[in-house]
Order: sequence, then C-alpha cells, then structure tokens
Amino acid sequence: MEPIALFSASYMEARKRFIEAAEATGFSIYSEVHPVAGPAGEELAMDFAVYGPEDAEKALVMISGTHGPEGYTGSACQLGFLESTHLREMFSSHRVVLVHAHNPYGFAWMRRTTEGNVDLNRNYVDFDKPLRSNPEYDRLHHAFVPTQLDDPSAEKVLTDYQAEHGPIAYMAAMLGGQRTHADGLFYGDTQSTWSQDTMIAGLRRSLANQKTVVLIDVHTGLGPYGVPYLVHGYAKEDPRYSVMESVFGETMRSTAVKEEFDEDLPVDPEGPIVLAMDWVLPDKLTYAYVIEYGTYPPAEVLGAHRKDNWLHAHGDLYSEQGKAIKAELRRVMYPEFDDWKTMIWNEAVDALEKSAKVLSY
Ligand SMILES: [Zn+2]
Repeated sequence: MEPIALFSASYMEARKRFIEAAEATGFSIYSEVHPVAGPAGEELAMDFAVYGPEDAEKALVMISGTHGPEGYTGSACQLGFLESTHLREMFSSHRVVLVHAHNPYGFAWMRRTTEGNVDLNRNYVDFDKPLRSNPEYDRLHHAFVPTQLDDPSAEKVLTDYQAEHGPIAYMAAMLGGQRTHADGLFYGDTQSTWSQDTMIAGLRRSLANQKTVVLIDVHTGLGPYGVPYLVHGYAKEDPRYSVMESVFGETMRSTAVKEEFDEDLPVDPEGPIVLAMDWVLPDKLTYAYVIEYGTYPPAEVLGAHRKDNWLHAHGDLYSEQGKAIKAELRRVMYPEFDDWKTMIWNEAVDALEKSAKVLSY
C-alpha cells in the first residue's frame, strides 16, 4: 500500500478511482446523481459501494465529503480500504457500505457547504421538534459576513468579542450552527437537504437487515497537523461511551462531555450526521463517530472558511480574488504533502482495526 498514491487531485479523479476500485473488488455501486453539475460540467453524485452478505448481522459504514474540501481525505481512506486485502478480509463477514461524496457539490466546487450553503453537519435534525437558537451568532453575523472583504470595522467587532469572551466562546458562536442567516457561516437550514434525503434513503436501503453498525465520517481541519482525533456524541451514561473508551482510549472524545472542550473541540453543534443515527436507523445499535484530521491552526482554517463564505455571498467566483480564496481553502483543508498523507492513512488503518473490535462487542 502506497498511501500517498491514494489521494486524488480533483473530485472527478477521486470518483473515478473509487468506482473502479469498488467494481474491481466485487462491490455493488449505486449512484444517486446530484441535480447540479461540477465546474467542468461533470456529473456529480453520491455513490454507495456495498459489499458483503445481505443478512450479515453487523456493518461498517464509511462516509467521505460531508464537507466538500475534506472529501479528498475521506475518499483516499475509502480507496485505501478497497485496495487493502487485509482490511477487506477483516470485515469480510460483515456488510460494508462506503458512501463517496456526501456533499458532491462541495467536493467538486471546493466548498464546505452544499449548493444551498448548508453545512450538512448542522442539518441532521428532526425539523418537527424545537431547534436551538444561536443569539451570539446573530449578534456577530454582520461581522462574520461583511459586504466588503477584510472590512476593518468588522474585524474589530470580532477581535473585541474574542478579547471579551475568549477564543472558545468565539468559536462556539461561529461554529455552533445557526438557522437564521441563509448566507451565513455554518448554516443548518430549516429543512432537510438533497444530501440528507439521499444519504438516509441509501443507508436504509443498504442496511436493511443489519443489527449493529459502526459508522465513520471522515473530516479534516481541526487539530494539529496530521494528528487525528476521534469524536462521538454519546453521554457518559450511554453504554456506547464505555465501549468506545475501552477500544479507542484517550484519542476518542465526546461532544457530550463539555469538560473536554478546547480549541480542537470547542463546540457541541446541533445536527451532525453521526448524532442522527438513533433516528435515522432506529432499529439498530449504532456506533457513529468522526475522524477529524488536523491541518493548520484554527485562525487559518476558520479565516479561509469566512473568506469563502464571503465569496459566495458577495464576491465573484471566477475573478482572480475568487480563485485565490478557493486555493487558500484547498490549502488549509487538504495539505498535499507526503508526510501528512502518510499519517492520515496510518491512522485510518488503526481506526478501522478498532472499529472491527467495536463490532465484536
Ligand atoms: Zn468537516
């Protein structure tokens, strides 16, 4: 296995390699075509690669591209799984479902959010129930998304807020999610998205008979360069908390345990897909977690997301400035260096081996 070779340079390349490797190893492919095309006019889709006995009791699910630019890394991990005889054999008695490009629009267009500016990890909620508000975000929206990029008065509002409330509270206001400003940051929307509907239908179809499911959602952008940390959302009283703790040890954290929050895990957002599995797959025991691979410091990562959000709200995607903003977002979310790629793959193998252990409980 040559880890560096698993990483692609475009959505089109990643998708093609994923489908070819899946077909070569006997996976069935179901493709759900997205209504919008890619920047080169290419077809965009959420692709489900499924393998293993239909009546297997247990299943592994691995998702890439919940946030578009992070899809390069998730896709590389999925390709690595397909190319690794060792890993495929480890799960050979189970159902395996690899979902390529949860947010195909964002993957192809280099954007965290969907075609409707929706952050999918703020969108998996039951919209019939009362939802949280985020008054701190509402207060700062005009500064997060100013009409003019790098407007000094907007920057001052944000600097003053951080000085007064501290960096964790600032990140919580920004990252916690909001449903009031459709052109804003970390927007969760007030209805489900194409990606959510397609994902839920695909998971239910692919996992009709399974009882226990481990689901991994691969991300990048929080934490130190190349270092993974793993996050679920189970409270300490939930029996799944102790299973995860005993298998993964200290690298696994919970968004339900606020004493563990720091700048790598500053917030308990409303609507991540991994927290939705109890209502998405209510008849199953699910262990759902995120692998978050670090890239660059939060100021760089969040700064790039703010600029990209501004670009879509007020800028010109095809201008030199637009291209520079996209290049910066790619740089901070997808470090295209051999050391980073090697670290990612080694940790993915470790997480998959431990996931097999969770399924043996
Ligand atoms: Zn992410």
